[in-house]
Amino acid sequence: MSEDAVAGEKALKGIPVYPGIVIGKAHLVDRSKVKILYQYLVNPEHLNGEVERFEEALRVVEKEMGSLKNGMAEKVNDLSFILDSHLMILKDSMFRDSTIRTIQDEKINAEWALKKSLEKIRKVFDQIDDEYISNRISDVENVTERILRTLSGKAQQSLSEIDRRVIIVAHDLSPADTTELNIGRVMGFITDVGGRTSHTAIVAQALEIPAVVGLESATDVVADGDLLIVDGSTGVVVVNPDDSAIIYYQEKKLQLEDYRSSIARQSHLPAVTPDGQRITIMANIEFLEEVAAVRNYGGEGIGLYRTEFLYLRSKGFPEEEELFEDYREIAELMAPEPVNIRTLDIGGDKFVSELEITKEMNPALGLRAIRFCLKQPEIFKTQLRAILRASVHGHVRLIFPMISGLQELLDAKDIMAQVKTDLDRDHIPYDEKMEVGIMVEIPSAVVMAEVLARHVDFFSIGTNDLIQYLLAIDRVNEHVAHMYQPFDPALIRMIGQVVAAARNEGIRVNLCGEMAGDPLCVPILLGLGLDALSMNARSIPLIKKIVRTTPMSQARDDLKEIMGLHTAHAVQQYLFERTGGMFPELREKGYL
Ligand code: PEP
Ligand code: MG
Repeated sequence: MSEDAVAGEKALKGIPVYPGIVIGKAHLVDRSKVKILYQYLVNPEHLNGEVERFEEALRVVEKEMGSLKNGMAEKVNDLSFILDSHLMILKDSMFRDSTIRTIQDEKINAEWALKKSLEKIRKVFDQIDDEYISNRISDVENVTERILRTLSGKAQQSLSEIDRRVIIVAHDLSPADTTELNIGRVMGFITDVGGRTSHTAIVAQALEIPAVVGLESATDVVADGDLLIVDGSTGVVVVNPDDSAIIYYQEKKLQLEDYRSSIARQSHLPAVTPDGQRITIMANIEFLEEVAAVRNYGGEGIGLYRTEFLYLRSKGFPEEEELFEDYREIAELMAPEPVNIRTLDIGGDKFVSELEITKEMNPALGLRAIRFCLKQPEIFKTQLRAILRASVHGHVRLIFPMISGLQELLDAKDIMAQVKTDLDRDHIPYDEKMEVGIMVEIPSAVVMAEVLARHVDFFSIGTNDLIQYLLAIDRVNEHVAHMYQPFDPALIRMIGQVVAAARNEGIRVNLCGEMAGDPLCVPILLGLGLDALSMNARSIPLIKKIVRTTPMSQARDDLKEIMGLHTAHAVQQYLFERTGGMFPELREKGYL
């Protein structure tokens, strides 16, 4: 029987982001915004009652947050400050008294008055010059949302409170939500929105939770408590499967696990092609805790440390000491292998609350990454000091993200030079030879690669963003997800240009987008001549195996053929036949 027939009519198809099969109960998480359905005038004799309804909602929320905070203390200490600040907002006169006054003066319902208070506060925040403080409006919005939920009788769920083994079903999960997931409890998750390289998907991969995103209608079709099969290899989700589907997927799960462990057993071998070309295979990480997995999977270093997560976990912006300790530990754990620490890439779809996103019309084109850091030099300097200090504790390299041209690179290097002068003055040691590279992930940087190569020690190609900016496809928008893929001939040519520019100046070039971990892409990346690939740790064993089986001469021939193909579909088809022919078991197991 075919897999489609087994899955039956109630199967949904989305974008697979972490392979593996899980079978379990659905847990629906409502992350939609509360809409104010009713804005109405209140009869003067009912105004006191309306005020009381508002005050009762405040009491309920206060209690709710108090117990959340208590429950949190042991588990996620670092985040309790968020609740403290929310509790303070609840008591703030601009928030509380002004809403009560508006109910009384304008004779309107509590929800409407609360929204009006929020607008007033928003105006005050908008005038604050300090971006960090003005961004704190999101906390006020968060509290407002909680009160609105309470007024409407809908409670806000916290993901950390989930105490059963479940599969999360949500419209969307913010990166903050994903850090709240209780790994021991959550077997997998599925969402309506999101693409293969949205940061939510990347976190799922880091946590190794089978996940399917971009299902569009999962929250409409799935009810709380439904039995689900999530196939993170194919993107299929079966709702309330029959016995034959359960048996089929249980068998598939066992086979997949067997196959995975057979590949893992060879993961310590280097990635050398049969004709002797060695490629360095490293890992992308988001958390210090992942370093052990990187070693287990045979990673030869950290090719990309996305440093944003500490900024989310920390109260406000983290102190230099906290950052230093984190970087030092990773450097020591990985030594003598390299750790490429990328400076803060905040903004875009990373760690900005939904409401802040609406503030920027195009967040992906907005104040993100190096742009943010150059605008906030003190925050930037703190991180640079921490990285430089950590550089004497292992093999540390530094990467600037989202460099769009030479001026930005020179400005960033200027700030780093100032930080080095400060460290010299304070007699604090750092590795004077620490290599500095840039993410090449904006098309303008590709065009200028030859010039940029003269100012850095290496390039790291970030195809997740390069695809987004080259093809004008939002990496988190499920409606265009089918067009977001690494097989586009324009992308392949661009990578070729970057490699050529690097060769010209004699610098190394690494590729660290999700493409690096895609088994289909190995012939392209070998053929193009990349020195290193950096990927999700769990992809390392398979990519190493494919490299070990693919002669360079064959990859170069494949690339020649591919350069003659002019649509993404034709390239993908070619690679599918090629890789599928060499590794039929990968096709069977849903890896391709
Ligand atoms: C990329 O853009 O390819 C990349 C590796 O960085 P991130 O996914 O963190 O934007
Ligand atoms: Mg990027």
